Amino acid sequence: MLPRKHVLAALALTLFGTAAQAADEVVVYSSRIDELIKPVFDAYTKETGVKIKFITDKEAPLMQRIKAEGKNATADLLLTVDAGNLWQAEQMGILQPIKSDIIDKNIPAQYRASSHDWTGLSLRARTIAYSTDRVKPEELSTYEALADKNWEGRLCLRTAKKVYNQSLTATLIETHGEQKTEEIIKGWVNNLSTDVFSDDTALLQAINAGQCDVGIVNTYYYGRLHKENPKLAVKLFWPNQADRGVHVNLSGIGLTKYAPHPEAAKKLVEWMTGEHAQKIFAGVNQEFPANPAVAPSEEVAAWGTFKADTIPVEVAGKRQAEAIRLMDRAGWN
Ligand code: FE
Repeated sequence: MLPRKHVLAALALTLFGTAAQAADEVVVYSSRIDELIKPVFDAYTKETGVKIKFITDKEAPLMQRIKAEGKNATADLLLTVDAGNLWQAEQMGILQPIKSDIIDKNIPAQYRASSHDWTGLSLRARTIAYSTDRVKPEELSTYEALADKNWEGRLCLRTAKKVYNQSLTATLIETHGEQKTEEIIKGWVNNLSTDVFSDDTALLQAINAGQCDVGIVNTYYYGRLHKENPKLAVKLFWPNQADRGVHVNLSGIGLTKYAPHPEAAKKLVEWMTGEHAQKIFAGVNQEFPANPAVAPSEEVAAWGTFKADTIPVEVAGKRQAEAIRLMDRAGWN
């Protein structure tokens, strides 16, 4: 047993610690819009009393701002989408690892940086969308098969400038090597029915309108459009079920290198990987929880289950530069 004076000292420390904790706040720089993050942060504040301030902007200026602030950092956390972007932040040296058994337990290793600089929070599949009027699902099989002759003049793609397509291409390079991937991408480009699109929603609308028959999109764009228009003549198809599975990417979060509130930030991230937060966070954007113990929303579950590629998503970052060069060579604008 501790002498009485030590007990008091320990008690005082505990009380002081609790008071300091309650006064804590966490500052998040987010490239995700307010409506996708506010419900999660509000729930955390309600549960813990910790205030969360957030600033939203595009990921590039946010990362530059963290870099420029350096040791005078105001942001504790960077929240963004795509492993390609998170990997960029890691390369810029603006993040630091979070060592946490809770995060390691909640989120599979393939959805985290091996450096522990960031972790995935929600998942989105980048999959095939097809016209229910002009395509039978039996005609579809793999991403690779969209390069076949029978899709000539029938394929729609989003621009190669979007990180989502760079990440998809990066994982193709990891799987097939550069030469075969270039052949596949050239096949896709040859099969285009029209110029590339600036976003996935316009692409889905083009399939619906008959401008093309198939395309590659992130699942939540389909979810949003389908909610607006339940008669949408477009469905999702899960490719590569006989081999590596569907390409999956994520939204994720990392602790900034000079975070002013690192402990409070760590607690928030741990909480965000748990059941309550995962349900809200994935639900608001019709994404899949990154924590496999948490079920997706009813809307998302209605798209059916699929086998996902088990490739570590950080490959998207590691091979990003290679992917951009390859897409350019293949004529994907
Ligand atoms: Fe998006």
